[in-house]
Amino acid sequence: MEKLLIAADNTNNFDLLDEMLKNNYDVQRYRPGMRITQRTDLIIADGKTLSRIQSDNPDFKNEDGMLFQPLLLITPRKGISLIKNRIWQTVDDVITTPVSKMELFARVEILLRARRQSVKLNRLNSKLKSENDIMKQESGMLTDYFANVSHELRTPLSIIMSCADSLYAFMDDNEFDSENCRNTLDVSKRNCQRLLRIINNLLDMTKLDSGQVSLNLRNIDPVKTLNEIVYSVQDFIQYKDISMSFFSDSKCRNIAVDLDMFYRIMLNLLSNAIKYTPPKGAISVSLHDSGGRDKIVISIKDNGIGIPAEKQSTIFEPFILADETMSKRFEGCGLGLSLVKSLVERHGGKIWAESKIGLGSIFSFELPVMTADNIKPAMFGTDITDKINCELSDI
Ligand code: ADP
Repeated sequence: MEKLLIAADNTNNFDLLDEMLKNNYDVQRYRPGMRITQRTDLIIADGKTLSRIQSDNPDFKNEDGMLFQPLLLITPRKGISLIKNRIWQTVDDVITTPVSKMELFARVEILLRARRQSVKLNRLNSKLKSENDIMKQESGMLTDYFANVSHELRTPLSIIMSCADSLYAFMDDNEFDSENCRNTLDVSKRNCQRLLRIINNLLDMTKLDSGQVSLNLRNIDPVKTLNEIVYSVQDFIQYKDISMSFFSDSKCRNIAVDLDMFYRIMLNLLSNAIKYTPPKGAISVSLHDSGGRDKIVISIKDNGIGIPAEKQSTIFEPFILADETMSKRFEGCGLGLSLVKSLVERHGGKIWAESKIGLGSIFSFELPVMTADNIKPAMFGTDITDKINCELSDI
């Protein structure tokens, strides 16, 4: 019910108006010193109380406020001639005494209609304001993202440029020692792979977002494939002094996956585990059945730096780094996990993380066990080294 405040100089006048309005509105009487709140929909005041309302409420009718606060003045017919122009800054309509119930209703309803529109506009305005705030925040994030991606692209590019400069210098100085050249070319190749990884991730994210990616399903034995991946990665990171193991108690020997995507998922998660685990750390990969063997769960556990609790729900969103200060110590632009999440979901699965700061993290993903007779078994081992070189290029 809309709230009406009646400011009448004497009780008889108040009772009269109250009688006419109380069945349709929540009517209250104005008491001297009262503060008018936004909850008041309409004020009906006689000439004698008007200045009192203004002195009790100096902010009343402050035009900065978006909400229309209507005021209906009641005055004897002869008082109309005394109304000054500037009174319209406060008063929105006038009714003369003796007040007829019909006319009072009409005027109250017209003013309340304007009030309702103003409430609607006010709500719309706050909605627009909060949408605008979100857009501003998103545009700030986009700017940060471009700055971050540009930085990520520029770093390997600068290294490749300086490798080229070194090779020119070797040529100019006739110092073409093959070991120096090989080392320079190795650094250059590793940074090409870093660039390729970032660009692949950006392209794949765009494709996955627009639903342009179809699964090229092949039957694989998950135990064999995971063994192969862990073994190859272990070989690749020997110099890092991090141990890596694989354990499985799964009975699943056949599951249809897109092998390329499966490699991307595993190598991204392993690359993170290696990146955020200090020397002498341990990484273990495990495979279990779940949901009565309808599903398998693969977990990658490390005992590295861990992820702050408040960041654990956002790390799967694109361009989120668990700790902005970390990004200075570790390469990456926060695309890997969101890509992994999309790839897992593309297989009808889900992914989650558990982590304790300083103790380590476990990333697990679940895949439905689907196989089909007309799906060919996958061929292994052909290009996993290239994939590892690329996916682990920023370690
Ligand atoms: P990037 O592609 O830059 O590596 P990701 O999307 O893979 O980014 O990861 C997002 C963030 O999640 C990383 O910046 C890192 O802070 C955090 N993170 C991911 N994996 C781990 C992990 N195993 N241990 C600690 N932090 C991790």
